[in-house]
Parts: sequence; C-alpha cells; structure tokens
Amino acid sequence: MDVVRQFTNRCACGWEFRGTEDEVVDATIDHGRRIHNMEATPEEVLAALHEAATTTDPTDEAAAG
Ligand SMILES: [Zn+2]
Repeated sequence: MDVVRQFTNRCACGWEFRGTEDEVVDATIDHGRRIHNMEATPEEVLAALHEAATTTDPTDEAAAG
C-alpha cells in the first residue's frame, strides 16, 4: 500500500490547490510567481503547509525570529 498524503494550500486571492506535497509546493511557487510576482522557497511553502495541517500548540516559539 502506498498511500500518498494529500495537502491543500490556499491563497488569500482565492486560489486553491490540492495534491501531494511535491505538487502543492510546485504549484504554490508557480502561483506566487505568476499571480503575485513573489518568489517563495520550498521551505517556506512546506512550513506553511505543515502549519496548516497540524493543530498542535506551538512549542517552537523560541525558534521564531
Ligand atoms: Zn494568490
């Protein structure tokens, strides 16, 4: 069994994409470039994805900044 985890990413403009982690990362970076003229790194997209996918309390606040 190879169940691939699906992620959904949304943008403030209403754009939404659902797919595997790699697909969402690629689509999000492409969307940012084309629609918002912004360059996102895979690390930024992944961080946002996993932040949205988990609802655990933030324990890493010391790492912020
Ligand atoms: Zn957008």
